[in-house]
Amino acid sequence: MSRGGTLERAAVLHAPEDVRVQEVEPEPLRPGAVRIAVAATGLCGSDLHYYADGRNGPNVLRTPTVLGHESAGSITEIGDGVDPDLLGRLVAAEPARPCRRCETCASGRYNLCPAGRCFGSPPTHGTIRSSVVVDAELAHAVPQNVDPAEAALVEPLAVACWAARRAGIVSGSSVLVTGAGPIGQLAVAAARAAGAARIVLTDVDPRRLASAAGAGADEVLDTSADQLPTGFDHQLECSGAPEALAPAALVPGGVLALVGVPAGRAPSPELLAAAQRWEIDVRGCFRYGPGAFRAAVGMVRAGRVDLARMVTGRFPLEQTGLALHTALTDRDHLKIAVLSEEDA
Ligand SMILES: [Zn+2]
Ligand SMILES: [Zn+2]
Repeated sequence: MSRGGTLERAAVLHAPEDVRVQEVEPEPLRPGAVRIAVAATGLCGSDLHYYADGRNGPNVLRTPTVLGHESAGSITEIGDGVDPDLLGRLVAAEPARPCRRCETCASGRYNLCPAGRCFGSPPTHGTIRSSVVVDAELAHAVPQNVDPAEAALVEPLAVACWAARRAGIVSGSSVLVTGAGPIGQLAVAAARAAGAARIVLTDVDPRRLASAAGAGADEVLDTSADQLPTGFDHQLECSGAPEALAPAALVPGGVLALVGVPAGRAPSPELLAAAQRWEIDVRGCFRYGPGAFRAAVGMVRAGRVDLARMVTGRFPLEQTGLALHTALTDRDHLKIAVLSEEDA
């Protein structure tokens, strides 16, 4: 167990393609928080952006930062005021660090906190290390028998659950999911769990399409040459590509939920015109709001999502650089997990 005074191991990004596994001070435990011995961290697109370019959108790496935000592990220490029953529990860590003092936080929409930070978003250190400290309510217990590399996928699954919630998917909905990366594939499962009757998943990348076959959609379509299909109640846009924004995809009164980070190219102006004429609701989805992790854990508990199929690679913490390089260059991988040692 790592605790104050003993150094622990962490994968620190110093500059693009310069990851060093080194000794760091463990974060001190605080009242109301728990220490998690990190077992696994899933690599995500944002980690790859920082690794490749030293930046993710407007956020730039300026000081050496520990990467990673999709993590799971066991609680090894609890701060004052925390339920002792949590000791030893396997949890997925919610990486958001809202300020809890501003009006946005007070309104409950803590994922939109203007002062909010997030694990692995420089300069806030991430989870590819021996231990992390999170507020107890952000440590979400998962069944003890779940593989930690799969439990780490509760974080992107929470993104998918939040998108389904924001899109208002209900029993009988028809849903178009554009983008068959990990988030798009998990969005299929979240839409199904929310009651969707028909789900079509699209992409333009043959390797993504091949791995999407097991995602649980009623149909997987290659739209590299064709238009998007039409007539859906809801669209979960998980690709960020402007080509995935086609007004005809939705029925009048439909809902478009933007999950993928839009690429820096303009979408078609017809979309806004159609949004006005046909009352298409366009809703942004930023990470996850209240209840999304609970919904994601519920899906895992009920066996409503196959996370095992998504973990396609595992690397020890000492090889984090290789893990990032592999995730960046080998598009056959869906999700690579970095495994921290149990004892640093
Ligand atoms: Zn992520
Ligand atoms: Zn706040």
